[in-house]
Amino acid sequence: MFESTTVGSLPKPDWLAEPERLWAPWKLKGGALQAGKERAAVEWLREQEASGIDIVGDGEQFRVHFVHGFLEQIEGIDWARKTPMGIRNNRYIAEVPTVTTALSRTKPVHVADAAFMRANTSHRLKITLPGPMTICDTIADGHYGRRADMAMRFAELLNEEALEIEAAGADLIQFDEPAFNVFLEEVRDWGLPALERAVRGLKATTVVHICYGYGIEANIKWKETLGNSWRQYEQIFPWINASSIQQVSLEFAGSRIPHEVLRRLPDKQLLVGAIGVLPDQRETPEEVAANILEASRHVDSARLTPCTNCGMAPLSTELARAKLRALGQGAALARAAVKR
Ligand code: ZN
Repeated sequence: MFESTTVGSLPKPDWLAEPERLWAPWKLKGGALQAGKERAAVEWLREQEASGIDIVGDGEQFRVHFVHGFLEQIEGIDWARKTPMGIRNNRYIAEVPTVTTALSRTKPVHVADAAFMRANTSHRLKITLPGPMTICDTIADGHYGRRADMAMRFAELLNEEALEIEAAGADLIQFDEPAFNVFLEEVRDWGLPALERAVRGLKATTVVHICYGYGIEANIKWKETLGNSWRQYEQIFPWINASSIQQVSLEFAGSRIPHEVLRRLPDKQLLVGAIGVLPDQRETPEEVAANILEASRHVDSARLTPCTNCGMAPLSTELARAKLRALGQGAALARAAVKR
């Protein structure tokens, strides 16, 4: 009960990339870069195991960013043709690359990373991929004409990748869809159908992560506009509950989300965020346990997996380490409290 995991990303060590910064360029090249990524991934793997995290991952040490790591290997994207785009419904403007011809995946992207991780741990292994809707909110369409069509093509490519990651030994495959909390109606109309296409034929456990974003300034400001009760989950969860996705990773710690919304996913395993990702938040194990036990007032304990709210990539290494420890210890405290 209360087996723990993380959303995925962890900070990169300062010798690999500039810390506390998204999209930080690599500091190494060629063979040294590959060896550096592997070393960083193993260090985080041992840190997760030592912290009592049950379902482990690579901390996304092999990719520059949770979306761009995948996109960099996909054909059909012109990285020099930048288009200004209002990301997450104009929360912030970014110059994004443009899809200019039909998309294809000519080689595996994260499959070797998954095999490397499998060879280095006996824990259950989770590998993350960006979801099709979130990809389409991170890249401009100069070819397909409809976002829904571009999302479906990305979903086909993600499915090829996910099937190979599964064959490489991943037990769980998670798709990150922070855009689901923004484009609510579109989730039903094409976001979820694209996600269903991405998981087709998988025997690995499937997970969707839906959050309110990294603890960066644009997201913190956006959250301030959402009022005292965040209702986005309330609208999309019934659709997600009716989908074939087995687990839902959601934000819960320190957020203005009415806790009853957990009841809208009666058929899913819930990865409940018990660790915040703001740079000034430092939870104690007791606070983590209290969060888990609060969730268990709404959801059967057997369906709860303590997790982080979101990825920890933008945090300092020291803080991320402390949060992993608090998560592992907090899950253990919650387990003991329920058994008593
Ligand atoms: Zn997230």
